Amino acid sequence: MKLIIHRGSKEIGGTCVELQSRETRIIIDLGMPLVNAQNEPFDSKQLEGRSIPELIESHVLPEVSGLYAGEERSVNAVLISHSHQDHYGLLRYINPEIPVYMSKGSQALIEASDIFIPTKANLRNVITFEMWEPFIIDDLVITPNLVDHSGFDAAAFLIEGQGKKILYSGDFRGHGRKRILFENMIHHPLKDIDYLLLEGSMLGRGEGKYKDEAAVEIRMASMFKNKTNIAFVFCSSQNIDRLVSIYRAAKRTRQTLIIDLYTAYILDSLKDISDKLPQYWWPDIRVFYFWGHRKMLRDNGLASFAEKCVSARIYKDEVSRDKKNMVMITKYNPAFVKFIGYLGDLTGALGIYSMWEGYLERSDFRKPLQRQGIDFETVHTSGHAPERDLARLVKAFSPKCVVPIHTFQPQIYPSLFPNVHILSDSEELIL
Ligand SMILES: [Zn+2]
Repeated sequence: MKLIIHRGSKEIGGTCVELQSRETRIIIDLGMPLVNAQNEPFDSKQLEGRSIPELIESHVLPEVSGLYAGEERSVNAVLISHSHQDHYGLLRYINPEIPVYMSKGSQALIEASDIFIPTKANLRNVITFEMWEPFIIDDLVITPNLVDHSGFDAAAFLIEGQGKKILYSGDFRGHGRKRILFENMIHHPLKDIDYLLLEGSMLGRGEGKYKDEAAVEIRMASMFKNKTNIAFVFCSSQNIDRLVSIYRAAKRTRQTLIIDLYTAYILDSLKDISDKLPQYWWPDIRVFYFWGHRKMLRDNGLASFAEKCVSARIYKDEVSRDKKNMVMITKYNPAFVKFIGYLGDLTGALGIYSMWEGYLERSDFRKPLQRQGIDFETVHTSGHAPERDLARLVKAFSPKCVVPIHTFQPQIYPSLFPNVHILSDSEELIL
């Protein structure tokens, strides 16, 4: 067996891993980069109007023979661990004959996101798997393991072949709403793992103020309880755990939760996978229609979704009248700025930033909001395991070798774990 990390050995984002056995080549994840060669944020506009050879030439697409459209296929399958763009974002370039394996939740989220984002995955030839049910790709046996992560229905992959066992951790944590999955892994570890490809997103970063998703919910509930005006929560509509935390905090404090059409659509697309996710037809949820979301739905033949939500629709006048009892999940953009212009006095309103703070550093909107009287606070916990949980996992599994991936700090691994083998991008490791 041969392992190649095409990208992701020394960076977060753009993950692409290849495993080769005698007869089989599989690719695990094919993510959009988060940084360019200069370590600056990657601009997905770079993809526009460029051919596959041009994108390979400029190292946007990893150089993987037999993977892309327009060349002879020699890759048997692509596995996608979860629905974050830095793990699936370059899928549209692959040869459409190649089967793409992912969970039902990942498929639903990727397809729903495609309606609202310019960098579409254009999924074709998807085969969905069930967690913990092994499937076979030629001479490899793959077992997806459901993990706790800010990405919904995320998998770690156990890959067995030619007498070797490889575990690709994907992205995971042990402090979210499904933390029990992590504890189960620690108490019933997979045995005889030869190679553990271990994500290390949190290495070199502080752990943050909130240790888990429960702490986020508690803090939000106390903020909602004492507020005198509307609360805006800036978070990703893809972070389903967080949407649930905000919903629960709002419900406990008898607030009406306002979501936008985009969030309503994302949640609706997951209703057959989990009946516990808040939905637009629940009594304490209302939907605000931003023009842009309506247009994107209409452009994709989904105008009927906006009609379906109409019983939950809330207009700006009603929001303005009852601001004290409202919590709104939103994004900072020109439509939002225009919207708050209609709301009148915003003194004492809350702005709660509930995403990775790195994004805020890139486009800081605290000052313009503070000028309008909005108090600003960050309430967030990471989607990734901190150092101590990575160490617990390595100790429980005691793999023969730990390979760093999805980290900017691979050089820290040897000081934390035994038997570390640091790879470079494109380097081949014979297993
Ligand atoms: Zn992720």
